[in-house]
Amino acid sequence: MDAHVRALRRATTMSDVDYDRLLILPPTAGPPPTIVDAIVSNPQSFHREAAWQGHCAVCGRTDDFWHAHHVVYQQHLRDLHVVAYDTRGALRLCIRDPTGRRAGDCHHAHHDGSRRVKGSELTDDNLAHVLWAHGGDHDRAAAYLQRYYDAPDAARLLATRVGATRADRRAA
Ligand SMILES: [Zn+2]
Ligand SMILES: [Zn+2]
Repeated sequence: MDAHVRALRRATTMSDVDYDRLLILPPTAGPPPTIVDAIVSNPQSFHREAAWQGHCAVCGRTDDFWHAHHVVYQQHLRDLHVVAYDTRGALRLCIRDPTGRRAGDCHHAHHDGSRRVKGSELTDDNLAHVLWAHGGDHDRAAAYLQRYYDAPDAARLLATRVGATRADRRAA
């Protein structure tokens, strides 16, 4: 990994970001990049991203009882020296409905291991975030997904859904 990327990651991890932060990586030698690595890390934006998803990624519930789950867990983001609220890492998962009208608590079920979120239930952005958090290393990203998600097909998901165009995805 380039020194400037490491420095940027350290800088953004140390300050607890409370405003929209846009990181545009400086140009590197070689062919022009096809993907601009622009990251928004902000707790409110993170929450809004999960709200925008509109429904629980597992059961589809659309009511107001949900959490913005960190697809790469927060303690792991710290260990990896990666920003804490990258909007790509947010996933909407339902929580217990205190009124008792609806059953289910997909967020708790994921963390207690009774019903892990499936790799196929993650968004394309989630997968890109997992890969990015692991320095672009497909093997480490796949190992992470296999350990913390129900994703035996993690390597294939990363290969076909990260950075793929819609045409690529149709062909896959
Ligand atoms: Zn749910
Ligand atoms: Zn969670």
